[in-house]
Amino acid sequence: MYTLCLDIGGTKIAAGLADAAGALVYSAVRPTPTDGVAEGVWDAVAAAIADARRVADAPVGAVGVASAGPVDLRRGTVSPINITCWQRFPLRDRVAALIPGAPVRLGGDGLCMALGEHFRGAGRGARFMLGMVVSTGVGGGLVLDGMPYAGRTGNAGHVGHVVVEQDGRPCACGGHGCVETVASGPSMVRWARAHGWSAPPGAGARGLAAAAVAGDPVAQQAFRRGTTALAAMIASVAAVCDLDLVVVGGGVARSGPLLFDPLRAALADYAGLEFLAGLRVVPAELGGEAGLVGAARLVALASPWTP
Ligand SMILES: [Zn+2]
Repeated sequence: MYTLCLDIGGTKIAAGLADAAGALVYSAVRPTPTDGVAEGVWDAVAAAIADARRVADAPVGAVGVASAGPVDLRRGTVSPINITCWQRFPLRDRVAALIPGAPVRLGGDGLCMALGEHFRGAGRGARFMLGMVVSTGVGGGLVLDGMPYAGRTGNAGHVGHVVVEQDGRPCACGGHGCVETVASGPSMVRWARAHGWSAPPGAGARGLAAAAVAGDPVAQQAFRRGTTALAAMIASVAAVCDLDLVVVGGGVARSGPLLFDPLRAALADYAGLEFLAGLRVVPAELGGEAGLVGAARLVALASPWTP
């Protein structure tokens, strides 16, 4: 018996099969259709499910679904900011209709990433952990006292929208000054360009990281600014949740010491409380598979908050 797991985001739809121990025995990724048609995105999800089921020589016992948020676990719907054609899309019921008899558990993608890293990645053994992703946005999820913490509607852990600049830029969420407006890849690139970073059109966060490593002062300043904002957010969340570990993944996190060295230095500056002295910040280990592993783990835990 396998657990079918899905991880649905604005750029990629991943599907996998996890065995009884929670290890992925199959995974495949396809692009998320971007033509703005809700049923087109659903068709891609259904095709990913069909491919996965063709691989399995055993029946699917349950389904775990990680989705870009916001999600609504009470209704089983999702309204991802980066899949705008899905407004309160009834994802849980649609998946359930495809696989009759298998329970379907839904979670936010940040929560599933955190849970996946906690179960089989860099978060193993942590009790109070924030898992976060820094890429085109800043997302995250919480594992508290060893269990996923989804909150009232399933959206706890939206750490990208912790405010770090009171008079900051407008954010996609409708607020302003969120850490995502400073520290996401595109935000750092935008700031660097506005301050004189000359790079070919289309150069993104990877190009900015390369420029910073090569000694470009504006690129370095952009990273410093982003990492300082991340540190302020992490210190705040750690103080609220009494964390022992933060696991950081995503494209920007793959820039390694360029991100982690200044991040740890700034965190030492912000996290002054004695109970935060042992707080560790480490790179994620599972890469793009964390969401799938976490979605399968969600099924295994069958937490009381999943209807
Ligand atoms: Zn925001």
